[in-house]
Amino acid sequence: MKIVIVGGSSSGLFAALKIKNEDNEVLVLDHNDELGKKILVTGNGRCNYWNSDMDNSHFHSNNDLSMLLTDDIKEETLNSFNDLGILPLIKNGYYYPYSNQATTIRDMFIQELDKRNISYKLNYDVNKIEYINNKYIINDEIEADKVIISAGGNAAPVTGSNGSIMNVINNLGIKTFKQLPSLVPLYTDGEYNNFWNGIRTNAKLAIYIDGELVKEEQGELQLTQNGISGICVFNISRYASIALDEGKHVNVKIDFIPDVDDVISYASRFDLNIYEILSRILNKKLVKIILDKADINSSAHISSLTSKEISSLNKYIKEFSVNVISVGDFTKAQTTIGGVDLNELDSNLESKKYKGLYFTGEIVDVDGDCGGYNLGFAWMSALIVSKAINR
Ligand SMILES: Cc1cc2nc3c(=O)[nH]c(=O)nc-3n(C[C@H](O)[C@H](O)[C@H](O)COP(=O)(O)OP(=O)(O)OC[C@H]3O[C@@H](n4cnc5c(N)ncnc54)[C@H](O)[C@@H]3O)c2cc1C
Repeated sequence: MKIVIVGGSSSGLFAALKIKNEDNEVLVLDHNDELGKKILVTGNGRCNYWNSDMDNSHFHSNNDLSMLLTDDIKEETLNSFNDLGILPLIKNGYYYPYSNQATTIRDMFIQELDKRNISYKLNYDVNKIEYINNKYIINDEIEADKVIISAGGNAAPVTGSNGSIMNVINNLGIKTFKQLPSLVPLYTDGEYNNFWNGIRTNAKLAIYIDGELVKEEQGELQLTQNGISGICVFNISRYASIALDEGKHVNVKIDFIPDVDDVISYASRFDLNIYEILSRILNKKLVKIILDKADINSSAHISSLTSKEISSLNKYIKEFSVNVISVGDFTKAQTTIGGVDLNELDSNLESKKYKGLYFTGEIVDVDGDCGGYNLGFAWMSALIVSKAINR
């Protein structure tokens, strides 16, 4: 059986290792000039390849994922990495290779491909797939019994996942959901953007779509000249991306001191003016912005504040509101919302219309949170497909 894998990076390489045996001839095609280019940029060059909390709530889709992402698949996927000699370095549940280098994962794949005599063609762009007499014909020249499309989404097109495969999928008449960027910075209309640029602070974010609370996230917030960024922002960005695309209003409320419920009572315990006490907790620039917004004199003692001033101060510390006007585009994104509708695929991720055509990774309508979930889905989907092919 000849199996062609379109896309020689995360899920494609994992699938190749899993399906190669004496009965299966495997050919990996990629339009990049090297394999695994995407892997190299992951986790800031460290490749956060898994997470100790693989609960399905970290994965998002228009369809239910409970039958797909089972405990058995999760366990078998992680075991595969252990069996390949990847010793994990685990930080707050995030798995990295012990070397802290993404090249460790990428190079492992290349070594294993070579060892197993798996062929690959680089600088090869797949722009046409036809199904004729139970065979797949790729670009009018390569014949295959089965094809796995592992060509990624649209995020970080410079790494090769540039969305060009969508034409091929559309021509096959396979239904897809609109692709949108996720795990991106949010751009806001904040009047303070230039002033707060560069501040990093712990915060809790609450995202509201048309006034309705949708999700809360806590973590390190980066205040930028265009708005807000950081992992906690990335994890709410999918909701902003979808809502803005639908023309809805997106607002984020920032709690700058989430670890203290009643900041005013806390501050009253100290014989300090309001600027002094707040600047012992927060970045001084941020304190200036909060006091400016709340219209409070920085030398005022907390005991001298009127109830109106107290509620205003509380509002700008605990519910600092920013309107989101846009999200980063695909060049800034780490993953893609949307893609191939799971209703088009069976539980083996095989097309219901085309026998022997499979999909893995980001091209499928599944996007994960930040923290190893997108690579996690890439490996798990590749394992699901390879188990089906090997059966
Ligand atoms: C900056 C950045 C950091 C990230 N960090 C993490 C992280 O730490 N942890 C995590 O879990 N996820 C991370 N992700 C997300 C993760 O990298 C992807 O979700 C995952 O790599 C997708 O795997 P894939 O197999 O679907 O596609 P990819 O790994 O993107 O591979 C697709 C391959 O297909 C090739 N291709 C595409 N179209 C064609 C075509 N028409 N013909 C031939 N070849 C084609 C491409 O060249 C590419 O090599 C990050 C993403 C980015 C952009």
